[in-house]
Amino acid sequence: MQDDWSLNPNVRKLLQRVPLPISLPTPLRRGQGRTAVTELVGTRAVLTHVRDALDLALAQAVQHAGAAVTIVDAAGDTTLTGRVVDAGGQLAPATADLPGGVLSAIAASGATGDRRPVTLIHRVTRPHGSDVAVNDATDALLAVGHAAASLPPNSRLLLVLGMELRGDATGALITAATQGFARSAFKELGKTGSACHVIRVEDAQAAAALATFLAGPRAAFLNGLDLLAQKSLAGDAAPTPELDGKVVLVTGAARGIGAAIAERLALEGAHVWINDIAQSQAAAADTVAQIRARGGQAEFIAADVGTLSGAQAIADAIRQGAGHVDGVIHNAGITRDRTLRKMSVAQWRQVLQVNFGAMHLVQTALAPILQPGASMVLMSSVMGISGNFGQTNYSASKSAVIELARQWACEGFARGLRANAIAPGFILTDMTAQMPVINREMAKQLTAMLQPGLPLDVADLACFLVGAQSRGVTGQVLRCDGGMAFGA
Ligand code: NAP
Repeated sequence: MQDDWSLNPNVRKLLQRVPLPISLPTPLRRGQGRTAVTELVGTRAVLTHVRDALDLALAQAVQHAGAAVTIVDAAGDTTLTGRVVDAGGQLAPATADLPGGVLSAIAASGATGDRRPVTLIHRVTRPHGSDVAVNDATDALLAVGHAAASLPPNSRLLLVLGMELRGDATGALITAATQGFARSAFKELGKTGSACHVIRVEDAQAAAALATFLAGPRAAFLNGLDLLAQKSLAGDAAPTPELDGKVVLVTGAARGIGAAIAERLALEGAHVWINDIAQSQAAAADTVAQIRARGGQAEFIAADVGTLSGAQAIADAIRQGAGHVDGVIHNAGITRDRTLRKMSVAQWRQVLQVNFGAMHLVQTALAPILQPGASMVLMSSVMGISGNFGQTNYSASKSAVIELARQWACEGFARGLRANAIAPGFILTDMTAQMPVINREMAKQLTAMLQPGLPLDVADLACFLVGAQSRGVTGQVLRCDGGMAFGA
């Protein structure tokens, strides 16, 4: 799929000379090839707080991933900061105020004019014994916000909320203020290809793996996520997806986002089972051939996921060919857009059945061969969150998918099974490429990053969610939308 025209350097130069009321997007720094342990090489990380095991886990995770780490925290625990410094990190020159401290840390972490992206990790804290704890915490948000506003392009602001903020009114107020801050901050930061996310922490290792992913190039098009990092019964979260030899089904994968996901999974070493309807056999054969040409493993199963017999055919083929399944990407989806006045029963039912009912059919058929610790990814849409004119059937189906992910996560938690929904926004596929230029421009201007995503962006997220890196993430919805200006 061609990249967006407005990111072409020659087109950019031309458009910059024309006084049009449109903003040009910042090219995103995306990952290439297989996920490396050192995904953050060439980036910097600045931490505002290193005082406990969670802070240390965050600092060490980004450091192991290759980021040059600087700690701003003058009152930090010297034993902990010492471990980061011993591994090559540095302490910023002590300054009295937080924004000054963060800015000097950023300056100290590189030469003048250093444009390497920065991940600014701010642990939102509650000063002990303070009557004005909420004010202290919110003042600190403004301080890191000031610093974040002057970060180089493609930077990240990660706001980390620890367990100590749970269980009382003050902690709940600080949490809510942080979430509200983030929901506005990401819209400002997106213009330079930067992002802001909130991580609520129940488990330090899960938070560290999540922070490393969000700081890295595989999360380039994600913006404004608010996620919970939990302890998983399937084991600790890992620094990479660890998909070698894993058997993963991707439905509706002959083309578009599904094909991109299948290709990414195969690159990570997974044995990919590609499903699509029989009419898409030629496109599916191309996808399988491309994967095999690169040394990957892929098979095609022609079946309609919206039927009981189709779902059973998929499960039978995988049982005979692989014996079990480690992950499922429920991706097949259709649109039959009509206003309510014109919507037929057939159009309504077809969309609900393929986009939502099919997930239940396929999952039930696969249940006997589902491995303990398996991960399910359910493709929703931002339209399932915000709704859209003429898409009542589509929005109903995609909203139900989000709830289905939550229910599967609850049901499967004790067996280490996970389920999450992805809600893509405007993604450049064959389908959206056919939109009139004016509609595409409007859709782009509605994203904080001022651009559409690529199928690769959704594929990178699916890869993260099906693999070991996201073991602490379940029952959640992750928007892949460059930070839509409306909705969640
Ligand atoms: P796409 O290019 O149309 O691909 C969807 C694939 O699913 C097609 O190959 C389609 O086959 C197949 N499919 C349809 N019905 C099926 C069935 N009953 N059984 C098996 N396969 C079936 O769409 P996409 O843009 O890649 O979207 C993939 C997913 O992301 C969908 O769930 C979509 O709702 C969601 N999404 C996409 C965007 C976006 O901007 N593109 C945004 C939000 C959400 P045919 O082409 O032959 O029908």
